[in-house]
Amino acid sequence: MLSFWEKNSFITYDVIVIGGGIVGLSTAAALIEQNPSKHILVIERGALPTGASTKNAGFACFGSLTELLADLKTMTQEQVLSLVEMRWKGLLQLRQRLGDQHIGYEPAGGYELISQYQLSSLEHLEQINHLLFEIFGQEVFSLKNDDIKGFGFAPEHVKALVFNPLEGLIDTGLMMKNLWRYITERGVHVITGCQVYQLSQQQGEMTGVHCRTLEQEIEFQARQVAICTNAFAIELFPELDIVPGRGQVLITEPIENLRLRGGFHMDQGYYYFRNVGKRVLFGGGRNEDFAGETTLEFGVTPLIMNLLEEKLRTVILPYTNFRIAMRWAGIMAFGSTKQPIVKPLSTLPGVYLGVRMGGMGVAIGSLIGEQLATMMYQQTK
Ligand SMILES: Cc1cc2nc3c(=O)[nH]c(=O)nc-3n(C[C@H](O)[C@H](O)[C@H](O)COP(=O)(O)OP(=O)(O)OC[C@H]3O[C@@H](n4cnc5c(N)ncnc54)[C@H](O)[C@@H]3O)c2cc1C
Repeated sequence: MLSFWEKNSFITYDVIVIGGGIVGLSTAAALIEQNPSKHILVIERGALPTGASTKNAGFACFGSLTELLADLKTMTQEQVLSLVEMRWKGLLQLRQRLGDQHIGYEPAGGYELISQYQLSSLEHLEQINHLLFEIFGQEVFSLKNDDIKGFGFAPEHVKALVFNPLEGLIDTGLMMKNLWRYITERGVHVITGCQVYQLSQQQGEMTGVHCRTLEQEIEFQARQVAICTNAFAIELFPELDIVPGRGQVLITEPIENLRLRGGFHMDQGYYYFRNVGKRVLFGGGRNEDFAGETTLEFGVTPLIMNLLEEKLRTVILPYTNFRIAMRWAGIMAFGSTKQPIVKPLSTLPGVYLGVRMGGMGVAIGSLIGEQLATMMYQQTK
């Protein structure tokens, strides 16, 4: 039961953003930058953001050589280049908005480990560099095979190493904490522990946003609503072309004399690892159990965890003793294409979608927030 005071001050907004991940917070940031007097509420169901944005690997990347080659088999050249450009622009925007020190950005470079059966991909290295030149104006991929030994990888598994100097690393937790701070300092209101279960059309072009909290049910109202719940959008709108994909991750205890530095990809981006100080963070393997990992459930499985540990032992840290410190999972959103969905919802006026971020939503999240905010702003003019 609401009080008179709560009803007057906490319920009605110009815009409600549903979802406190990088896309929701970036949408709120762009909206408040466009119009500092807007009353904006972000509603997040977790105590912390609970999807992918605080669970990911923190790669500031835009696609490895084998991943881009695989994409060129299922998408047009224009679509692949457009995605790469969105990721790159999104990263630049994130760095510009928050500042490198506030996202823990390290220009560490990225590498892809090439196995024996992937050696033929190197024949296309020049062709991909040529395509990417129009975005970056420089060579992106080059061979750095001398580093295979330097990083301590198993030479029987790693036959070549492709280097990308434009990749970097991010401290995901720091980035999200500072993005949160960025919007609240500018007057955006954030409510956590509040699950939206329904939207409804109300009088006066308002949308009702029906929520459950521990204590009560509340109906907030706003002229415009942005749905930024990524994979979880299908809980509210099952008809959307969204397929959830779980990503499992582990991190080791600190390893003395750890030799690897930077971000590393394997197998078309299905595996990824990096150093976090003296630790190794390693994730992926979804491709080994697509059916099992097509889920909105958090949690790790023995199948994927054993696989990750096995690869750590045999390929990445073959001569090193290590212990696993933590394991966790996050939920991503995929679909029939890799393009995010950014559009008005056809069934409810004033409601917009910014969802389906795929596997590189840290990279594109800021740009998608900007696009969504601009689309919403134009509708009010
Ligand atoms: C293991 C892993 C590693 C990854 N590594 C990288 C990487 O290195 N680089 C990269 O660019 N990308 C990476 N990604 C992808 C990236 O993290 C995601 O694409 C991105 O975080 C998606 O952001 P989002 O805001 O759209 O969604 P989310 O982060 O999922 O945010 C959605 C939010 O909505 C909330 N929510 C859901 N339903 C409701 C509801 N009904 N009511 C209220 N709130 C709700 C959720 O609690 C959640 O906080 C990785 C993902 C995973 C899982």
